[in-house]
Amino acid sequence: MVETVPFLDVGATYQESKTGVAEAVARVLSSGWYLLGPELEAFEREFAAYTGVKHCIGMASGLDALHLTLRAMAIGPGEEVIVPSNSYIATWLAVSHAGATVVPVEPDSRTYNLDPALIEGKVTGLTRAIVPVHLYGQPADMDPIRDVARRHGLWVLEDAAQAHGACYKGRRVGGLGDAAAWSFYPSKNLGAFGNGGAVTTDSDYLAERLRAWRNYGSKSKYTNEVCGFNSRLDEIQAAVLRVKLSYLDHWNERRKRIAHLYLQELQEIGLGLPFVPAWADPAWHVFVVRSSDRDSLRQHLSEADVATLIHYPIPPHLQEAYQGLHLGNGSLPISEAIHREVLSLPIGPHLSDAQVHLVVNAVRGSIRHDRSLSRQA
Ligand SMILES: *Cc1c(COP(=O)(O)O)cnc(C)c1O
Repeated sequence: MVETVPFLDVGATYQESKTGVAEAVARVLSSGWYLLGPELEAFEREFAAYTGVKHCIGMASGLDALHLTLRAMAIGPGEEVIVPSNSYIATWLAVSHAGATVVPVEPDSRTYNLDPALIEGKVTGLTRAIVPVHLYGQPADMDPIRDVARRHGLWVLEDAAQAHGACYKGRRVGGLGDAAAWSFYPSKNLGAFGNGGAVTTDSDYLAERLRAWRNYGSKSKYTNEVCGFNSRLDEIQAAVLRVKLSYLDHWNERRKRIAHLYLQELQEIGLGLPFVPAWADPAWHVFVVRSSDRDSLRQHLSEADVATLIHYPIPPHLQEAYQGLHLGNGSLPISEAIHREVLSLPIGPHLSDAQVHLVVNAVRGSIRHDRSLSRQA
């Protein structure tokens, strides 16, 4: 039998936490209270403590967490928000849903994260916020980003959707700006059994407004200060997330071990490997390698029964949804090159060492194969 290596075995996290999950779900179901109740409050308290901030506000998704935080910051039409050119499109969509304009800034091509040196050149009188993304679980370089924000009076909203547990200079991400948005999409490092999201913040002001924005704009029943949304993290998901939160550090340790194996075993074969700055302790949401021959590497791995994904195949500015920005091909060359060359290898808390070695051998085999082809040519 050929051993297959799945990209990520989401179901395995359920198998490991099964007893606690079953107990949590049964507790909620028999309580008769399914929204905005004690499980959400407890999860908010526990996740705020984990992140090292004062408040956590549960939401229905990561996209809502980003979008509603921009609303709570009173950012809207005619205003600009700086976003990375290289991110999952949700970062951009949140800005668009708030009615503001996205202003993309190119990444550092080693870390794939927002290049702080390029931000200031994009700040105008209309800029209101910067949204750094801790992409692939690698923390963005927050100190210089915060410096630019301070000089220009801008909000900083971290997109931490891929970085549960990652640290920057010894501090957990999620408490490094004015607020941070989280996703609990099932395949994230901390994933629900459905949709979920949250905002963490030290700001009493933002926390109070966010609690209203997620609940029809209402701070007390039947009074509405703003035209809010319905975006709550339900009791079942909150109860499940409390159980899974207790596994998060352990699961992240396992991801880190696999990442270090890859970093060690895939050196000096001409493949671009993740660059980890001295101040970064990544959450290893995905393990991204880079190759000018990405598509043939992917094909070869697929033939070796190793699943891979591309994060992401098309940059946001080249999506049909953003044609209105008139940012054509070639307008954001660093991001475009990244999108042409990156490939994510399998990583996750339940990948065995044997599977990791299978991936390593398949990658090495693919590169040897390509070299011998180019010698023959
Ligand atoms: C997953 C993700 C989101 C959106 O989260 P959802 O819960 O799916 O809405 C936003 N930003 C980034 C970087 C993500 O990876």
